[in-house]
Amino acid sequence: MTPKLELRDLEKRFDEVEAVKRLSLSLDQGEFVSLLGPSGCGKSTTLAMVAGFETPTAGSILVDGQSVEALPPQRRRIGLVFQDYAVFSKLSVRSNLAFGLEAKGVPSAVRAKAVKAMAERLDLTGLLDRRGDRLNMSEMQRVAIGRVLVTEPQLVLLDEPMSNLDASLRASLRGEMKLIQKQLRQTILYVTHDQVEAMSMSDRIAVMSMGELQQIGSPEEIYRRPRNRFVAEFIGDPPINLIPCEVQTNGDQVAVTTAGHRNLVLGRGRATAGRHWLGLRPHDIRIAPAADAGAGSFPVRFLETLGAEEVLHIDYGGQLLQAVTPTGAVREGDRVALRFDLTRALLIDAGTDIVLP
Ligand code: ATP
Repeated sequence: MTPKLELRDLEKRFDEVEAVKRLSLSLDQGEFVSLLGPSGCGKSTTLAMVAGFETPTAGSILVDGQSVEALPPQRRRIGLVFQDYAVFSKLSVRSNLAFGLEAKGVPSAVRAKAVKAMAERLDLTGLLDRRGDRLNMSEMQRVAIGRVLVTEPQLVLLDEPMSNLDASLRASLRGEMKLIQKQLRQTILYVTHDQVEAMSMSDRIAVMSMGELQQIGSPEEIYRRPRNRFVAEFIGDPPINLIPCEVQTNGDQVAVTTAGHRNLVLGRGRATAGRHWLGLRPHDIRIAPAADAGAGSFPVRFLETLGAEEVLHIDYGGQLLQAVTPTGAVREGDRVALRFDLTRALLIDAGTDIVLP
């Protein structure tokens, strides 16, 4: 199947700055893909090239297998959703939905029919005469998306649409957004620096850093099998613990020794002996009461409550490890024994920052 959108070795340079470096990725019809990365990593520049607002320095952009670089933005049939779901506040929902079609000179009878159909699909029929400034955020989200979809774009681009909204609102809009996308089977490229947004809505996530694609995969792949240290640290909250370790190999067996444990057997992989990082997510460390204050017991320096769970900050031979446990299990100052879930541990090459297989 021809991908809906394909980026081939896409590059953008602004004088000295290489904003996007040889980026290749493709989106299938109906896929929701997020570009995720810290500020300045090249997400918005990538989106602007797809939309036609920036000209690539090199590489190509194909929609349905056809190169679009020579087309101006308005001829690319790409829908853009504005930041904060801005809608025209003085216009009715009906006029907001009709806006793009009107701009294209679509006759009013055709327009009215398309607006009615879109309102039905997005559950906006009862609100068609309501003004933009009388809508709640959920309604605004649907209007902002509806007025783009009504123009039948090939794909929809969203650039941090929820960035200025408060946390509880974002949580409910995320769920709704996913539902809309599932119903309409629209291909979406979504730009965000917020891993929770990317994880909760995307079919696949493309993680970028300093203009380069680090990894693309399902949310679970990105979380469980990050390719390198950057992805391992950028994804996950609280962040992954990186514990310096000494690796010994014996045939296929890999054993690691850390400041607090000797010869933890990973029992797999192709690690080379030497000093590396043991990567352990805070949810993959189990806590048990320590029998005594001897070796194998570590003091809890402080706790952060999340509600049902707590993040423990544990002094592990001078390094603070984070572990997540049910609230109330441990108090500040307690000593605890730690059991690592080694089936989920990562071994990261200290020289190359690559996660070892
Ligand atoms: P943010 O979330 O902060 O927008 P981003 O990941 O979207 O970040 P870009 O805005 O794409 O990143 O910027 C990537 C790099 O390119 C940055 O170093 C930025 O300063 C630079 N850059 C972007 N646009 C321009 C421009 N018009 N002229 C010069 N440099 C630019």
